[in-house]
Amino acid sequence: MAASTFANTSHIFPRHTQVIPPRAARGDGCYILDKDGKQYFDGSGGAAVSCLGHSDPDVIAAVQDQTATLAYAHTSFFSSDPAEELADLLINHAPKGLDRVYFVSGGSEAMESALKLARQYFTEIGQPQRRHVIARRQSYHGNTLGVLSVGGNMWRREQFAPLLIETTHISPCYEYRGRAEGESAFDYGQRVANELEAEIQRLGPDTVMAFVAEPVVGATAGAVPPVEGYFKRVREICDQHGVLLILDEVMCGMGRTGTLFACEQEGVAPDITAIAKGLGAGYQPIGAMLCTKQIYQAIEEGTGFFQHGHTYLGHPVAAAASRAVLRKLTEGGLVKRAAVMGETLNTALQERFGQHPHIGDIRGRGLFRGLELVADRASKAPFAPDLALPKKIKAAAFEAGLLCYPMGGTIDGKTGAHILLAPPFIMTEDQIGEVVDKLDIALRAAL
Ligand code: PLP
Repeated sequence: MAASTFANTSHIFPRHTQVIPPRAARGDGCYILDKDGKQYFDGSGGAAVSCLGHSDPDVIAAVQDQTATLAYAHTSFFSSDPAEELADLLINHAPKGLDRVYFVSGGSEAMESALKLARQYFTEIGQPQRRHVIARRQSYHGNTLGVLSVGGNMWRREQFAPLLIETTHISPCYEYRGRAEGESAFDYGQRVANELEAEIQRLGPDTVMAFVAEPVVGATAGAVPPVEGYFKRVREICDQHGVLLILDEVMCGMGRTGTLFACEQEGVAPDITAIAKGLGAGYQPIGAMLCTKQIYQAIEEGTGFFQHGHTYLGHPVAAAASRAVLRKLTEGGLVKRAAVMGETLNTALQERFGQHPHIGDIRGRGLFRGLELVADRASKAPFAPDLALPKKIKAAAFEAGLLCYPMGGTIDGKTGAHILLAPPFIMTEDQIGEVVDKLDIALRAAL
């Protein structure tokens, strides 16, 4: 192994050892300022986190008040007002049937909890043979080993493969690449949904525990929404075979797509769902798993103990921050604003990049938008299957004062590239212009 000549004297273990990022000094509305005072428009909300921007006075006050009142109480001894009230708020706005909330500290923990709850549910109701999880090739569900197993991004999984639990992956619902010529969007959706039926039959219907999917695919694909009818068919298949439907709304939930839960737009409700990111809006690390009464009751009437848990479950300060966030999203009208501004952003992106020779598809919902990069627009030929191009675009955008989220791994988790935009819901129309202009500058510099 060659010794690195790169001089990084920081003791932080960075994401990329060859890059020293500037230090963020301050957040102001939709902007982050570095120590030299340079301003970056947060066009990706970090990683689809900062839905309220960076200086919301109500959330800051909620954090300060709660820290002064009660910073921490372990959930083996106490519940707390902010956690109870946040759970009530979430259930009041959740898809039909969801009845209980399990608080954690982030998205991977929420999805790990979902998988373990699904498994325990079946052991509690006397179906311990149900152990198979089916997921989709184009997906990301977190980086801890359990959920990394379920995710379909090969680049993330490859070197850890010997440590992963068995999961099978079916096709995503990815119209831009998957719909055959002459096939309607609806027929395409039914065809890929029916892969779930075939996979359940192949594994043996009474051995399958859960199907896991992101309603709108985020990091692995760049805001790919399903076609109409896809999730209805998925729900039907799950119901037919007693398979739990776990929807991962860690990235697309909390208003990002223009409704509080992305699955509302599909007309389906999951058995279990996971949320995070926008739930704390970056002010505190928090995630949650929501499940139906039926699942909760299986535990309540069975062993009475969910065999899971972390030290920071239901952290009062995180819950207080999130309660303030949720009030702004719902009563404060910011989810509705995300829907409206999302349409404006989409129009601006279509106008500027709709005919761009290297942008094959512009898609998404609400303030969750993706641009798929292609070597050739007509043939949809992808760029080389590596991360060089996304890195180049990210650096060029950064230089231009825009934070965006370019990634590789669009097709079967291995190739392709896209740019994900997930700006704060408080952004103005002028700022939409700023995002599009800066993105244009970055694309010109990088392509
Ligand atoms: N699920 C989805 C859909 C995600 O996008 C992410 C993170 O990007 C996760 C799970 C994992 O969340 P976290 O990074 O908070 O652990």
